[in-house]
Amino acid sequence: MTTESLYSKGGLRIEIAQPHGMCTGVDRALKIANRILDEYPNETLWCFHEIVHNQHVVAEMKSRGAIFVDAIATIPEGARVLFSAHGVSPQIWEEARARKLDIVDATCPFVAKVHGEARDFASRHCHIALVGHKGHDEVVGVIGEAPEQIEVIESKADVEILKTRWPNERMLVLLSQTTISDEMFVECQTALESAGYTLIHPNFKDICYATRERQRAVSQLARNVDCVLVLGSPNSSNSRRLVEVAQKEGCQAFLIDKPEGVDGLDISQIKRIGVTSGASTPEALFLQLIERLKERV
Ligand code: SF4
Repeated sequence: MTTESLYSKGGLRIEIAQPHGMCTGVDRALKIANRILDEYPNETLWCFHEIVHNQHVVAEMKSRGAIFVDAIATIPEGARVLFSAHGVSPQIWEEARARKLDIVDATCPFVAKVHGEARDFASRHCHIALVGHKGHDEVVGVIGEAPEQIEVIESKADVEILKTRWPNERMLVLLSQTTISDEMFVECQTALESAGYTLIHPNFKDICYATRERQRAVSQLARNVDCVLVLGSPNSSNSRRLVEVAQKEGCQAFLIDKPEGVDGLDISQIKRIGVTSGASTPEALFLQLIERLKERV
């Protein structure tokens, strides 16, 4: 994990976090989608949920004929459907099969691994605390593996809900969303242990390497600059975590969803500015942000 001093002029230094930007899971999902769009230019590609949480990427795919939906029932029978990098629940797979859809699965392998763990532990009658963000596509998909045996924990406040739901359970399996921060995981793990639960699988291994590496890089960056800009969409979990990690280092940090977003920020007093991008942000957009920053000098 390093920072790279990219540009220095007129008293302003721009530093970028390494690594930053698109991860292998997003890259893989986009390659799958683009290959289908290239091979079948006259057919609609139905996408269940945003392929990745990046508005620029979604807009580009729409312009090439993709249609994004949130309900399988809205897709014509027999059509081709793409499942996003965030994965879907077994119920969605069943609905898609019932409509005889041609399913293309772009679920990130790291997300698929969490599904497998949830299935495995649930089949052994375990109860599972899933550390993650309620309502996030990935979390919704994993809950679907065993809705009666999985409870989502966002903070220590949620431990009370869990106690009420399973009053006689003292042992829990601890899983997590792939894109949360280490701090969030530790806070929830500590809260559960303090409440007297014995935890199975209490490690960080569900948080993917891309999330962790980008968070460590931005943490290091934030210690050396006056302000951090994170390029990513507001609904991108890993991008929002990058902002939080930088702020925890005592650095001001902003999430901007497009390069033009920097125009609205007052950076006239900033001497050292750090930049990074979320795991679903195309590098071309990131380079546009750098060029825009240079113009501000
Ligand atoms: Fe996969 Fe991690 Fe990228 Fe999500 S952030 S798509 S889990 S590699």
